[in-house]
Amino acid sequence: MDYTQAKQRIEQLKAILWENSRKYYVENAPTMSDYEYDQLMHELESLESLYPEYATEDSPTRRVGSDLEENPAESGFAKYPHKYPMLSLGNTYSISEVEEFAERASKAIETPFTYCCELKFDGTAICLTYRNGVLYRALTRGDGVQGDDVTQNVLRIAGIPHRLKGSGFPAEFEIRGEILMPYESFDRLNHERELAEEPLFANPRNAASGSLKLQDPEEVGRRGLMCTLYHIPTGQVDFPTHDQALKAAADWGLPVSENREICRDIAGIEAFIDHWDTARKDLPYATDGIVIKINEMAVQQQLGYTAKVPRWAVAYKFKAEQACTPILSIDYQVGRTGAVTPVANLEPVLLSGTMVKRATLVNEDQIRALDIHEGDWVYVEKGGEIIPKITAVEPSKRADGARRPDFPAVCPDCGTPLVKPEGEARWFCPNQDGCPTQIKGKILHFLSRKAMNVLAGEATVEQLYNLNLVRTPADLYTLREPQLLQLDGWKQRSVQRFLQSLRDSRKVPFERVLFAVGIRYVGETTARDLARHFGTIEALQAASREELLAVPDVGEVIADSILAYFRNPSALREIERLKEAGLQFSLNTETRKMSDILAGKTLVISGNFSISRDEMKALIEANGGKNSSSVSSKTDYLLAGTKPGPEKVKKATDLGVEIIDEARLREMIGLPAASEEEGEQQLSLF
Ligand code: NAD
Repeated sequence: MDYTQAKQRIEQLKAILWENSRKYYVENAPTMSDYEYDQLMHELESLESLYPEYATEDSPTRRVGSDLEENPAESGFAKYPHKYPMLSLGNTYSISEVEEFAERASKAIETPFTYCCELKFDGTAICLTYRNGVLYRALTRGDGVQGDDVTQNVLRIAGIPHRLKGSGFPAEFEIRGEILMPYESFDRLNHERELAEEPLFANPRNAASGSLKLQDPEEVGRRGLMCTLYHIPTGQVDFPTHDQALKAAADWGLPVSENREICRDIAGIEAFIDHWDTARKDLPYATDGIVIKINEMAVQQQLGYTAKVPRWAVAYKFKAEQACTPILSIDYQVGRTGAVTPVANLEPVLLSGTMVKRATLVNEDQIRALDIHEGDWVYVEKGGEIIPKITAVEPSKRADGARRPDFPAVCPDCGTPLVKPEGEARWFCPNQDGCPTQIKGKILHFLSRKAMNVLAGEATVEQLYNLNLVRTPADLYTLREPQLLQLDGWKQRSVQRFLQSLRDSRKVPFERVLFAVGIRYVGETTARDLARHFGTIEALQAASREELLAVPDVGEVIADSILAYFRNPSALREIERLKEAGLQFSLNTETRKMSDILAGKTLVISGNFSISRDEMKALIEANGGKNSSSVSSKTDYLLAGTKPGPEKVKKATDLGVEIIDEARLREMIGLPAASEEEGEQQLSLF
């Protein structure tokens, strides 16, 4: 490679790595495997050491990947500097490089020392500050120098103490660790997203970091996150070793993992790695390697840091596991929108602790790109360790005369000829009202938690369908006790619970009803925006294409889908029947009337109110106000509920921003004070 080529390759690698770093940390949607990313990073490191004249300060080899939004205004979080920079870890996939690390350390350090070996938790880094024993602030890693203030969200994560127990902790100190999403929460979340036809999270790491950056602390609380802490930056506590500092942290009630071990030499480290390479598969959360840290604080201080990593620690990363197994058959699954997805049934194979029997083939183009033939042996990988995907075919094992699979021409469920709309990569069954799988999928979506929140699952819907009791969501509201008693295993109590749950769903606000009816491409957020913009289903139905496009984030695809929905006579009939059943098809009129009292005012809400935070924000918007998540000189009011964030209150006081409570806001917009029930009644329909 000559100088010009080296320079070009360095520039190219930098661009690829920054781009993928953004996808990984900011969008939480990586398109490259960690292994590939790390290989490219190592290539860049070696080129920069061979051609140091082309190594620049902005190189990804010298800076940690940033989780901060490029446009700070979009982040919605206040930013604060880290007291000690939050760095990354040097990493390797090879035991011999771990050996080199240990050798270098032995040569450099004259006093005896040990290693503390820990799990490398695969989540998103967090830095907690405790002041006088109370959680004062939680910051993300950000760009390593400053992070987003996610304290309100962290306060909702189980296991993170708001107040420390015991004694002996410093008046103020920082402790760092990882926010994780256990597999169970991850599966539940993705299942809900699948039903809502929202994009799935590729792995628990992305789900954890995406959840931590939500603007809705209550939703963060529902996501089932956990935390494990593993580092108190040197110099804040007076313990001779890292391990002792962690033990003290555990005594103060902080969540510290016990899965660590003090090792004296490389043999001990290797035994730890061997053990956890298998044992980690039984853990309820994801780990992606082992971290080897020098245990003695004095030695840590002596070795110090590079611009990007500590010199006293290294991470050994596990390679994503792969397995090779034959395809037994291919199913073509029909979703609630009619989209047909090919799914390979595999000879069961053990991968990262779970038996993999099926893997998605995505669509017809992907089958072609992988050049899949019937009976092929294929390589299966778990993207981020959880969702199995087929990455390649093993051509040497292909049987003579193996054929390419024929993508079906008709719906595998109802036999209707499939269509491929322009611009779509997928085939669709157009028989929306007659295809059993689509019908059941729509009903299940309608009942789901984020839609009508009715207590019923797949098995119930299957039975309701098979007994010919339900064909559309509106049929649900015609069900009576004798019919429901026909369901397998249903007794008086289960019937009553189900009927009560249906009655309760009549109070579900318009925005969720709009989401529940299942207009293609109208997800939760779009449904909310449309409901707030148009106020009633009639106004939405009467809207022209231009009027629809005027709603923020509604593009041509969504607008056309809404227009097509309201042209469909059976959809219109269904809406009429749901209206008759008493469902909410308009926003609460009282709240809509008060629309300009807060015009031009920016409010920040903090704490809890007599109604949910979402409803409070909606109320502000309905009165013409704007919500913002951080207090700045542009804020007009800080609306403080019970337990407001101390940081927000302090900032508002410092900046002279007026702090008002709920009673004052109600007074301003002419709403009566909130007796609990009144508040609910007035706003629950919003
Ligand atoms: P990292 O994840 O490799 O290691 C550092 C992080 O490990 C720390 O910040 C900390 O959050 C975490 N950690 C977990 N357990 C720990 C423990 N016991 N002690 C100390 N730290 C612990 O480094 P990173 O800088 O967060 O991320 C870089 C890595 O992210 C890359 O190596 C790559 O694998 C991945 N990445 C992938 C893509 C992609 O497109 N696939 C893009 C960017 C980064």
